[in-house]
Amino acid sequence: MYVNSSTTWYWMDEEGFKKTCIKEKKKRGGINQPLYSTWVADFILRQGAGSFMLGKYLSDKKIPWQRRRRLGMAVAENTPTASFLTKIGKMQSAGRRLCRVAREARRESTDGLAAETHGHINSAGCEELATTVTAAHHSIWRHLYDSMHAAQKLKSKLKFITLDKELSNLSTLWRREEFLRICRKVELADKAQDTEVTIPVKNSQETRHNLNPESFFVNHFWGRRPDGVAINEALQIVHILEFEGSTDRNMGFLDVKEALAEANKQHKSIISALKAASPKWKFEQINFVVNNRGSVVESNFYTKLKNFDMKLDVQE
Ligand SMILES: [Zn+2]
Repeated sequence: MYVNSSTTWYWMDEEGFKKTCIKEKKKRGGINQPLYSTWVADFILRQGAGSFMLGKYLSDKKIPWQRRRRLGMAVAENTPTASFLTKIGKMQSAGRRLCRVAREARRESTDGLAAETHGHINSAGCEELATTVTAAHHSIWRHLYDSMHAAQKLKSKLKFITLDKELSNLSTLWRREEFLRICRKVELADKAQDTEVTIPVKNSQETRHNLNPESFFVNHFWGRRPDGVAINEALQIVHILEFEGSTDRNMGFLDVKEALAEANKQHKSIISALKAASPKWKFEQINFVVNNRGSVVESNFYTKLKNFDMKLDVQE
């Protein structure tokens, strides 16, 4: 297509055109100014966001209709949240019903409630739904973790630690032989202490800290729980896996979540203590970000899967 840049006309290919549009969209205020007439159209046309998986799920007749309908509504942005119902005039004020119920049950003030949007009810930030959201988060992660494990090449030396009772925290992990071979428990505790003391103590934990500061930090470390762990003794690598759920309304969600995971004190403490205690080994944190309408950043997701010795044809 020809584009007029003030004085001259020049040819622009489709890719260039898209980039120009995205820049323009940013200028106009991002997600509130859709590129293709509506937010939904923008969402569906996003490239490399795993939309084929979304399509597969939505058209799979074996999956109960209610579930597919729920996802369809999420994509179409017409989930009957208080925010949507208010928008179409079916509710008087942006009621924020769910969080209000939770607050009232606790006899707390209902000031400053978050808007009840799709993103909100799918996050642990929703006071009424937090337990359900967390349970869903765990079950999605378990499915992903088990699938990665199941898709491993037969010859792979990488060992996934089973998520059940075994891996409840670092303390139980360091009862296993293969981890004791990385370094002894006392060495790790020693290094952990150095990192943990630099992390501010939460108000709720101050009493416990003041009782015995020294053991507080070490116990804190042993109580830390990575979402998943995979170890390759032959190559001396440990992967610490983290799973993050996210909203995908804004296209920049991956960067945001990666940055958050990077800044997470828990992860920082685990990795830096391990590196200090056993310099010969490699410790890597790998974050998986999955979004609440089923989108992923394909390229990023597949690159991460490559760490796990998987048969490529089963990536899906
Ligand atoms: Zn809520």
